[in-house]
Amino acid sequence: MLRYCFISEWLDPSSGVLWKYQLFWYPETKEVEMVDIKNRRHFLKRTKYEELRSSLLYIGSMVTIFGRQLKLTEYGDDFTRNSIESQTERTLAMIKPDAYKHMGKIIDAICQSGFLISKLRVAKLSKEEAEAFYAVHRGKPFYERLTDFMSSGRICAMELVAPGAIRKWRELLGPTDSNQARAEAPSSIRAQFGTDKSYNACHGSDAPETAAEECAFFFGRDRYPGKCDVARNTTLCLVKPHVVADGGAGLVVDMIQDVFDITAAQLFTLDRNAAAEFYEVYKGVLNAGEFNAMVDHLTSGPVLALEVADRDGASSVEPFRQLSGPMDPELARVLRPDSLRARFGLNTIKNGVHCSDLEEDGVLEVNYFFTILPQS
Ligand code: ATP
Ligand code: MG
Repeated sequence: MLRYCFISEWLDPSSGVLWKYQLFWYPETKEVEMVDIKNRRHFLKRTKYEELRSSLLYIGSMVTIFGRQLKLTEYGDDFTRNSIESQTERTLAMIKPDAYKHMGKIIDAICQSGFLISKLRVAKLSKEEAEAFYAVHRGKPFYERLTDFMSSGRICAMELVAPGAIRKWRELLGPTDSNQARAEAPSSIRAQFGTDKSYNACHGSDAPETAAEECAFFFGRDRYPGKCDVARNTTLCLVKPHVVADGGAGLVVDMIQDVFDITAAQLFTLDRNAAAEFYEVYKGVLNAGEFNAMVDHLTSGPVLALEVADRDGASSVEPFRQLSGPMDPELARVLRPDSLRARFGLNTIKNGVHCSDLEEDGVLEVNYFFTILPQS
């Protein structure tokens, strides 16, 4: 029987003790098993657990097993290493400033093509940061123009995971020159969203070494390049884990970009303390069961946090609440069928998106995600 093995860590939030487990996954029967490494004892005997998303089984990922968040730190055996490594090549994709307004459509194309987005961050590079990123092109005739362009507006950096991710993403991009792309690969991203040879919508790493370097450039340190300051009058949107896991994040972003500017974005995996702290204000309003269900869901997988801004600089809190629609998706489908919750919500817990409710909470909630939470 097929069996994968990972070494995983769990930080007990109450005692602060770090536990290490062997985590076994039996894909054919959808069973998990855990062995406590220090005490060489079964922690969880082989048990059915259908909620485990096998797409999240790679090193560095967080998986939730019966409400416990485990970080996968190492492969547990050679068989697992060999099979998973070939399935989980990584590449850096970047939406350049010219195509940032099409971020939703591009994220959607990425998801529809079968990539997993394991990291995502919006940034605004300085000229020096753009020069550092494109250091290999220093001295070439287009270098000045390229680095001016890359520091002229927001970009979105993503780490994509898939079998053969590097080649697969370059194929989806199409030829470097957008005009050539329109002639040779009309459904490619550069054909659809690029202008010419310089303004060509997106970037993709060209080899495993550059992919590793470029991913480390954006995601490998605490202080990352191009961090955007929290703007005034903005509001927070969280694209909830069920939407992200089902590949719907791009469509949500696209609906938002139709009306608003997205001034910051980042993919987070929250632990229970962070989720409970964020939902603190709901403690008095909801019963304990509902509150726990909200925390369970928010910690069940990656969430996409978005800073949403009005295009003319007015407050976006109330207008964005309108786009989100009523809390309960059933109600939303009757009252506001075009709202985000009507389209993406399943029930009151998995209701598609969170939005800031009160005028004064918008910037506070944006700050919680983009300043207070650990950013890596
Ligand atoms: P990318 O690295 O962005 O995926 P690429 O690998 O197809 O594109 P490179 O040759 O690495 O292309 O060049 C990096 C970027 O520099 C290109 O994406 C483009 O924006 C710009 N560029 C490359 N060649 C030219 C050129 N001849 N004239 C203007 N800009 C260019
Ligand atoms: Mg290149």
